[in-house]
Amino acid sequence: MPFFDGHNDALLRLSRTEGDPVAAFAEGPGHVTRAKAAAGDLTGGFFAMFALGDTANMDFAIFDSPPYDTPLPPEMDRATAWEKIAAQAEIAQGLEAAGAICWVREAADLDTAPGDALTGVLHLEGAECIGPDLEGLDMLYNMGLRSVGPVWSRPTAFAHGVPFRFPSDGDTGPGLTEAGRGLVRALKARGMVTDTSHMTVKGFWDVAEEGVPLVATHSNAHAVCPTARNLTDDQLRAIGQTGGVVGLNFGTMFLRPDGKRDPAGALDHVIAHLDHMIALAGEDHVGLGSDFDGAPMPEGLADASALPVLTGLMEEAGYGAGLIAKITHRNWVACLQRHLGSTTTG
Ligand code: ZN
Repeated sequence: MPFFDGHNDALLRLSRTEGDPVAAFAEGPGHVTRAKAAAGDLTGGFFAMFALGDTANMDFAIFDSPPYDTPLPPEMDRATAWEKIAAQAEIAQGLEAAGAICWVREAADLDTAPGDALTGVLHLEGAECIGPDLEGLDMLYNMGLRSVGPVWSRPTAFAHGVPFRFPSDGDTGPGLTEAGRGLVRALKARGMVTDTSHMTVKGFWDVAEEGVPLVATHSNAHAVCPTARNLTDDQLRAIGQTGGVVGLNFGTMFLRPDGKRDPAGALDHVIAHLDHMIALAGEDHVGLGSDFDGAPMPEGLADASALPVLTGLMEEAGYGAGLIAKITHRNWVACLQRHLGSTTTG
């Protein structure tokens, strides 16, 4: 059973790794390498570029003792963000040149990755590197960018994000700015995905007003784990109604009903999230959004090589082969075909 995943941070990891990124992506440590992808039948997915800032004020130990509310890193200026994203885009191009990842540029690319290359969707998590006048967007588009989350948790010129707060809903601040609405319209015109993961509830509904399919690449059900990063029932319903997809995040503190990062037993809550997301969004609108290389993973799902564990869990829960295929890869591929097939410019 092939897997097509909604979110990983492998490019960020490689940008922070010494030595040749192509070699570091082939095998070695990390959640997503070619060796681990081959072992787990991960055939492709969204690869995020993310401008990591100063996380000195973030204390990850607080995820061990809910309730918590992590202070966000300071906002990042455009030049600093551009430098970091350009370095990751260069790594992305190097991986393509080496035959490791084939970046999807049009719908036909979704079924034609040559050899054993992964099929990648180049994603931007937080649009700090793009100017409020959208300067830089087309350069990134030409480099293969096809998916943008206007905001990670710290605010940008485009939108406001949710803090890592538990328990909390995602209604924690304002939504899209006027520049943010302009960005969403530009993404829509180019057939690019607008990602609402990390956005506030207000931002989510602002994106809905722009008439794009609502996509949340790596978020879970708030009804099962009440963290600010997870989605309410109304949001899940809207994702289904607009032809979008929500990707199940494997990060332990987004899975566990107690919000802790403890990996022990975290896997036990996967089916509760999937059941709820399928009930609300519909079985054509739920996929995976691992957060590999970006979040603590559950015991038993340490990296991409363990993905088939999920197939086993779904079979045990009585999911049929057709439904499992939709969740593991078909729904993301269909969602991307709808986006990329709708391109109205260049
Ligand atoms: Zn994220």
